Amino acid sequence: MITSLQESSCLAALDHKHLWHPFTQQQEWVKQEPLIITSGKGAFLYDIHGGKYFDGNSSIWTNIHGHAHPRMIEAIAKQVATLDHTSFLGTTHPKAIMLAERLVGLFPGKQLERVFFSDNGSTAIEVALKMTLQYWQLTGHPERQRLVSFRNAYHGDTAGAASLSGKNLFSERFEMIHFPVEQISHISMLEKLPNPSTIAGIIIEPLIQGVAGMRLWPPGMLRELRGFCDEQGILLILDEVMTGFGRTGTMFACEQEGVIPDFLVLAKGLTGGVLPLAATMTQEKIYEAFLGKMHEEKTFYYGHSYTANPIACAAALASLEIFETELVLETLASKIAHFSRSLKRLQELPHVGEVRQCGLIAGIEIMEDARANIPYPKQAYMGAKVCMAARAHGLLTRPVLDTIVLMPPLCTSEEEIDQAVEALCKSLEAWIVSELF
Ligand SMILES: *Cc1c(COP(=O)(O)O)cnc(C)c1O
Repeated sequence: MITSLQESSCLAALDHKHLWHPFTQQQEWVKQEPLIITSGKGAFLYDIHGGKYFDGNSSIWTNIHGHAHPRMIEAIAKQVATLDHTSFLGTTHPKAIMLAERLVGLFPGKQLERVFFSDNGSTAIEVALKMTLQYWQLTGHPERQRLVSFRNAYHGDTAGAASLSGKNLFSERFEMIHFPVEQISHISMLEKLPNPSTIAGIIIEPLIQGVAGMRLWPPGMLRELRGFCDEQGILLILDEVMTGFGRTGTMFACEQEGVIPDFLVLAKGLTGGVLPLAATMTQEKIYEAFLGKMHEEKTFYYGHSYTANPIACAAALASLEIFETELVLETLASKIAHFSRSLKRLQELPHVGEVRQCGLIAGIEIMEDARANIPYPKQAYMGAKVCMAARAHGLLTRPVLDTIVLMPPLCTSEEEIDQAVEALCKSLEAWIVSELF
């Protein structure tokens, strides 16, 4: 889309005047011309001046089938014309019913038979958290109140989800509104937890921690964790907000270790990355504990105004349909292998440290001197600078500190993967030789 310079500078001025962006130092933001994205097609985004960018982080880890997929457009348009929204408190609707059935069917044994909808990853985590605590109260174990999570974990930004997350720069200042959570850094520490019979639940990002910098867990760890929870009667919550919907090579990460959790939390990719929707899936034994007469007060009192929004449910159904019609999972193995080969090029660069990959997720650590294992000073914000430089090479992504994230939409072709890696190589090289910063 080509827009007049006047229009774009007018929009930029208004953004600077009225908007407050997430995770953004606004004082820096207003010094630069903002990148105004006006359209998307497949794995690419286009800015207001017609500039084309590869969507290198799937629009903050959400997009699955590319932008403006015809089937998604059709499903959403049809739904908005039929039923845009209706309350899920006291009524129901066909798209939510069909979606729940489809989600349950994604597990061959249908062990996760109940679906509770919400709007985003953080709220779906809150749901799992509150269900866990209430479950123990309802089953005569009110003493089970302790929650365990992993160091450097990320489960969202609301106060509850942030309490479960690792302590970091962002969350520290709100510590007074966080509840206590015990954090472990390694599976071996499970055995050292005192009084396991008072632990309510353990939460983990399976296979790979995202915000921690794309850090992989050792193989077999998830199965071991499931074993420990079974032994001690602890509920296991899997946060698949990032890893769900094919990102790691299988529909869900937990499949790779044959693990069924007590709660499975889904969001980002649920609608193909097109509309906000989240789901907390659980087992029938959890659900049944909440059944009773009205006056018994076993009801799960929780919900949001837009719970199970029909348009979002229609988008999620269309996304699952695309998985089937386009054999998305079937094509992943060769794409992932190609991604590995392509990433090897980066590994040879002097400023590239560890390159971590899980399916179509990669974290590329950049360092002052990779061979001598010297990181960049934290205050240099090199990860952010490299990502800014990458825009000039047609690659759009964001780092987590000094780890550059490459997470292409699942629809990305092998050729496009090569181009994205090439763009990152170029921006790393260009910026080393020039005095850009
Ligand atoms: C993004 C993310 C969340 C939070 O989801 P929001 O939709 O941003 O609230 C939770 N857990 C993980 C693993 C995530 O990547």
